[in-house]
This record gives sequence, C-alpha cells and structure tokens, in this order.
Amino acid sequence: MVDLTERQARIIEIVKKNGPISGEEIASQLKLSRAALRPHLSVLTMSGHLEARPRVGYYYTGKTENSLFARTLRKIKVKDVKSIPVVVKEDTSVYDAAVSLILEDTGTIFVLDEDGYLAGVVSRKDFLRSCIGGTTTGQMPVGFIMNRMPNIVTTEPEEDVLEAARKIMEYQIDSLPVVRQVKDGKLKVIGRFTKTSITRLMTELGGEI
Ligand code: ADP
Repeated sequence: MVDLTERQARIIEIVKKNGPISGEEIASQLKLSRAALRPHLSVLTMSGHLEARPRVGYYYTGKTENSLFARTLRKIKVKDVKSIPVVVKEDTSVYDAAVSLILEDTGTIFVLDEDGYLAGVVSRKDFLRSCIGGTTTGQMPVGFIMNRMPNIVTTEPEEDVLEAARKIMEYQIDSLPVVRQVKDGKLKVIGRFTKTSITRLMTELGGEI
C-alpha cells in the first residue's frame, strides 16, 4: 500500500467525479503535462485505486484504503511470519513444562505424542487452573492438563494471515500451531502463529507504508 501524495489524492477526486476520463483530460484539469502525470497514474493503478480501460479511460475502483489493506494482508502467508514452536512430549511433567514456558518466554506450549505428532496445547491459563484446582501435582504428565486433539485449532504454512488471525479472534486464543498433515490425519508441528506474529507484522507494515 502507498501513502498518497496531495497530487495523487487530487487525481482520485477528479476521476471519482468525472470518470471514466482520459489521461489527457486529467492532465489538462491539473495543468500538467502527460509525461508528468504518467508516474502518478501508474502508482494509482498499481495500488488498485484506479483502473484503466483502453479507449474508455481511467475510473475509480471504489476500493477503500481498508479493502486495499486487506488485499495486502491476504498476500502474506502464515509461513512468512511464523516463529519457532515450543514443544514438549506428552509425558513431560507439569512442573518441567511450566519451566519451559518460562524459560522460552512463551504463552503456549504445544504437546507432542510419542511419535512426535501434535497431541495438544497447554497455555498459561491451563497451568494456573491446575494450580488452583488442587487435584494436579507438578509430577503429573502435562498431558493431564492440556487441551487435546481433535479440539486444537491449527493453521497451515500456505494459509493467509488474515484467515489465521480470524481463527485467533473467533476461538479467543493466543496462538495456533502451524502444522503439516502427514498421514492418517496426523499433524507435524512446524511453527507457531501468535498474537505477537500479528503485532510484529503490523509494525513492519507500518514501517513500510
Ligand atoms: P491464556 O492461557 O494466556 O489465556 P489462550 O487464550 O491461548 O492463553 O488459552 C485459553 C484456552 O484455550 C486454554 O485452555 C488453552 O489450552 C486453549 N487453547 C490455546 N490455544 C489453543 C488452540 N490453538 N486450539 C485449541 N485450544 C487452544
């Protein structure tokens, strides 16, 4: 997405009002040469604000900044922003899993079965719940307190970030394991997509605009 200059905003206004309109006519309204206008028109057609039809002229696409932003987001895939997953085996103790959570500075740990496939997810709240519940001890396996497959919400490397972010909102969770289906519906964990991934992406996009 591009930040519009004053001149580009003015061109959009002219096209909105008079479109379809030829480049010639826009140039004359702005008292500009065709050559000086050309780069602005290329920017505005590339960014999706305007479209050009041969022999008809330029017209306004009606796309708002928001829909252009959504289009940018849709091009970015989970694989472009995922980070390294923090994983433990299902028979790891609750105590050791909690230590990993702290040492790895993460909010969620993915739990793997004995063959290395996704078995469940354990979050900060699950540890807290197990503490106040009074029925769990630190020596119990983490599998005892995790949320278990098939109730785990996942994403895939090729999914677009908007869709993955929508899952985080819909299920009110902080992170999604990034998985690849291997066999018999078994899932290999290859990354994590979290609220931090989204925040980092926003700040990077913000810097580019
Ligand atoms: P927090 O514990 O910091 O609130 P979440 O909001 O992510 O973290 O977790 C809330 C609940 O949802 C926890 O019980 C957790 O096990 C579960 N959970 C977290 N991530 C997922 C996921 N991807 N799929 C299914 N359940 C999840």
